[in-house]
Amino acid sequence: MLLVEEELSGILEKRLSGGRISKEEAYRLLLSGSLFSLGEAADRLREKSCGDRVSYVVNRNINFTNICTGSCSFCAYRVRKGDPSGYLMSHERILRLVEEAVAVGATEVCIQGGLNPDIGIDYYTGMLETITSSFDIHIHAFSPMEVFYMAEKSGLGIAETLRLLKEKGLGSMPGTAAEILDREVREEICPRKITAEEWVDIVKTAHHLGIPTTATMLYGHVERPEHRINHLDIIRRIQDETGGFTEFVPLSFVHYNTPLGKANPEAHGASGLEDLMVHAISRLFLDNIPNIQASWVKLGWKLAQTALFFGANDLGGTLMDESISRAAGQKVSMMDEAQMRRLIEDVGRKPARRDTLYRFLE
Ligand code: SF4
Repeated sequence: MLLVEEELSGILEKRLSGGRISKEEAYRLLLSGSLFSLGEAADRLREKSCGDRVSYVVNRNINFTNICTGSCSFCAYRVRKGDPSGYLMSHERILRLVEEAVAVGATEVCIQGGLNPDIGIDYYTGMLETITSSFDIHIHAFSPMEVFYMAEKSGLGIAETLRLLKEKGLGSMPGTAAEILDREVREEICPRKITAEEWVDIVKTAHHLGIPTTATMLYGHVERPEHRINHLDIIRRIQDETGGFTEFVPLSFVHYNTPLGKANPEAHGASGLEDLMVHAISRLFLDNIPNIQASWVKLGWKLAQTALFFGANDLGGTLMDESISRAAGQKVSMMDEAQMRRLIEDVGRKPARRDTLYRFLE
């Protein structure tokens, strides 16, 4: 499907003057291959809504268990129960990690783990209680998949589980486990995971209960361009309804050590140009989500800097420890605040420290 120059300019002009682009138009833009035209328009929209500030959050990532009953083929992090490299952190261990994060000025802990058959809802609520009884720090935790797992094991149901987690101190949730919100793709890469409909239901329920979430999309594996656009459309429609997304994070698939990457030579990750195109189309399409995050963990530092000129305005967290992308073969997994600021200043932008909910702290 070729897009003539005039049509391309017409769609971009409509968006730049405040109009909404349709799914069909977004699909045509994505297939146009006009990376620099899309990038330029996305950069103008970024400048209009966020100015020159590039935000980041000082946080710590805590992956409390790698033991998981799941079987997602894009994941190199999980191990089965009984594997000698399997671990489950005690609440005391987690508390020490939070203490270290607070000591370096972190305002958030981001907590996620595998679906460990040995833990139930008490482990999760106990973790929240342990942290909140000692520290005043934002807890950004538990993917919709983990919430589903807790709800199923406890028999409490989704809304009650979320209510309980909120009462115990959950501040917001990562919108991970979304992968690509499409039945066909999920059957291929994560058949035992929650369905697209379940993901949408959990996220909307969280938003209605006053628990904000991020939104993500894992791309660069078996999906086709139409899957990416359908996914963005689902995210945009949820945001129209709830306004509960704080940001959108395109996650570029890191394939090296994953079962999917090893078994399917076609699923070898997106090219750098595709990465930039996905960030640009996200900015152009998601007119109701002001923050588009470039994930340095997935893109690497240099491409994350480049994405700041293709629609992204945020670089996410400093993380301190990152285990999931590292297990998949990504080399870049450490960052401190000084490095983060340097990355931003080196491309002529202004670093701006924020909290999880995008309130600026400077
Ligand atoms: S992505 Fe999460 S649910 Fe899937 S196998 Fe990995 S740890 Fe388990």
